[in-house]
Amino acid sequence: MAKKKQDHKDIGIKVAPPGKVCTDPNCPFHGTLKIRGKTFVATVVKSLMQKTAVVTWERRRFVQKFERYEKVRTKIKVHNPPCISAEKGETVKIAETRPISKTKHFTIIEKVGEDFAYKQKEESKDEIKKTGSDTKEETKEEK
Ligand SMILES: [Zn+2]
Repeated sequence: MAKKKQDHKDIGIKVAPPGKVCTDPNCPFHGTLKIRGKTFVATVVKSLMQKTAVVTWERRRFVQKFERYEKVRTKIKVHNPPCISAEKGETVKIAETRPISKTKHFTIIEKVGEDFAYKQKEESKDEIKKTGSDTKEETKEEK
């Protein structure tokens, strides 16, 4: 049986390949970057840097003194290949790689969906900012 020629290489993890093709050497699908180590599912909180995004995810840590769990957030910079180009508010799968730069040793490998809870939080924050500035202006006018 003749195999269909793929425009991306197999990264070793079963994920949906990106629809686009890129020329980034640090892309796990079209470059020479290899994936090994841990994988996580995280939410993108910043994506305006070139080929870099900031992601965060929550985990629980046991506190021995209180015999309870506390919520801890992990926030790291990850590589955002041009063929995936994830945006703020999206849920992505990230995988560990060799260090790409001083602060990057993870790369995005798949878009999972959108984080609606995170988006709602951001929208409510914006509303608070808007109403907060309005009340300030009103107090100024009263003086
Ligand atoms: Zn690519």
